[in-house]
Order: sequence, then C-alpha cells, then structure tokens
Amino acid sequence: MTAAAPSAPHLFYEPKVSVLSRPAFESPEHMAVLWQGESTDGERLAEFAGRLCYMSQHNPAGRSTRDYLENIKKQGHGSVLEHANYSLLLEGVSRSLTHELVRHRAGFAYSQLSQRYVDESEACFVVPPAIAGDELLEGAWRAQIGSAQNTYVSLVAQLMERYGWVADKVHRRKMAREAARGVLPNSTETKIVVTGNARAWRTMLELRSSEGAELEIRRLAVLVIRVLQAEAPGFFSDFEIYEAADRREAARIGYHKV
Ligand SMILES: Cc1cc2nc3c(=O)[nH]c(=O)nc-3n(C[C@H](O)[C@H](O)[C@H](O)COP(=O)(O)OP(=O)(O)OC[C@H]3O[C@@H](n4cnc5c(N)ncnc54)[C@H](O)[C@@H]3O)c2cc1C
Repeated sequence: MTAAAPSAPHLFYEPKVSVLSRPAFESPEHMAVLWQGESTDGERLAEFAGRLCYMSQHNPAGRSTRDYLENIKKQGHGSVLEHANYSLLLEGVSRSLTHELVRHRAGFAYSQLSQRYVDESEACFVVPPAIAGDELLEGAWRAQIGSAQNTYVSLVAQLMERYGWVADKVHRRKMAREAARGVLPNSTETKIVVTGNARAWRTMLELRSSEGAELEIRRLAVLVIRVLQAEAPGFFSDFEIYEAADRREAARIGYHKV
C-alpha cells in the first residue's frame, strides 16, 4: 500500500487559550455575606468559604472581595482558593510542553488528545520560540519535521498491512498509530483541557512563568496569567509580567505559595 504524502504541515507560533468553565456561585439566603466592591462568582465563592471559617459574613472590616482575597494571599490561607476551578482549552502547544505541564498534579485534571486514536498524518507542529524567525534554524527544523511526518504516514500504511489479520479496524488503526507515533517529534502540536483550582494554577504559573522555565511553557504561562487575571483578579493580580533580560516576557508572583 502506498501512502499519500501529507501537505505542508500547519505551524503554530503562538499558543491559543480558551476559557471553558468558571465557577457559578449561588449565595445562600440564610447566610448572606455583606459583599463590597466588584467581583466574579469564583472570587465570591472563595470569600464565602473563607468567611465561613470565622462566621464573619457581616464583613466587620468592610473589605471588598478583592481586598479580602489579597489578605488571604498575604496570610497564606490558600486553601480557600481551592474552591474556585477554571477549565482552559490549550491548543497550539507541543507534546514536550504538555509533558512538563502534567507534572503539576495537586488540584489539576487533564484530558489530552490521544496519539493512539487520532491520525497524525496532518498533524500541526509548534515552532520552538528560540528557533522561530531564524531562517537557518527554522529551515533545518522544518526539514526534520517534514521528514518525520512522511515517515509516520508511511509507517502507518505498512503497519495497517502488517496487522491485516486484526478484524477490528479501529483496533488495527490504533496498533498502527501507537507504533508509528514513535517517529513524531516533541514539537508535534497537541490539545489539552486543563482544569485547576486557583491555588493550583498559582503554583504552576509561578514555576512556569519564571525566567528559569523552558521558553514555550513560559510563553504559555504568561498568556494564562493574562487570561486568568481578566477572569478573577482577586486570585491572580499579584502576578507581575515583565520583560526579562532575554527580551522575552516572564512573570513574578507577589505572594509565594499561599
Ligand atoms: C524550571 C523547571 C525545571 C524542571 N526540570 C525537571 C527535570 O529536569 N526533571 C524532572 O523530572 N522534573 C523537572 N521539573 C519538574 C518538577 O520537578 C516538578 O515535577 C514540577 O515542577 C511540578 O511541581 P510540584 O511537584 O511542586 O507540583 P504539584 O504536583 O502541582 O504539587 C504542588 C505542591 O503540592 C505538594 N505536593 C504535591 N504532591 C505531593 C506529594 N505526593 N507529596 C507531598 N507533597 C505534595 C507540594 O508542596 C507541591 O509543591 C522541572 C520544573 C521546573 C519548573
């Protein structure tokens, strides 16, 4: 069986982040909090949980929700942040990035595109930030990507023949793809749904937006900080994004590990 050569692969130069889910808070009538200031459901949920600990719903200090959460972060009372979960769809990220990302365990859930089930003949690839824009480096990288994808397509076709005796075609394809994917590079694009509570996101973002982090995950972390700061400033406003000495963005956190 001959395999059709894939068309030139689509390349990603930036990740894409979409918010899939955010908390919906219902204030119980019998335990009303004296809310102050602007806030989102996720922020009110955390304030409600925090106030329950001391039954301070009457808000004796007259704090706004965001000031209350600022104090929570300052005091390191981070467990109340665990009530607010945010689900993000990440696209245009590489398999090497998600390999690092899924090391963050506490408070996270992941669902990632399967290379055993999904055909990667038309896979996209993520140009490593340090290579992007450099003609020579990018040329060498593209040549390798193209060759790997051609080999993948050819291997799948040959493996489908080799496993012709497997009656279930879905299973046969899975057997072929799971072996052929061995030649796909770390730069292969993937998609992943990540759900994390605000405390878990903060820990991950602190580590991965720092200057010591790998460039692609650092770029993603900076973007996620922007997205989550817009979602819930009370949880994420202490992240400061700046341009580092390497002329790329990084971020530092105000309250380390709450
Ligand atoms: C710059 C950088 C370089 C790295 N290089 C490497 C490398 O070369 N090789 C490598 O293997 N990894 C590497 N890592 C990954 C690193 O070792 C961690 O696996 C990753 O950062 C996740 O951190 P975490 O375990 O603190 O996160 P999480 O799993 O999200 O945990 C968050 C926090 O919860 C607590 N916690 C979670 N699980 C447990 C547990 N089982 N027991 C007790 N407390 C727990 C800890 O306080 C932990 O800090 C690197 C990470 C970074 C940021």
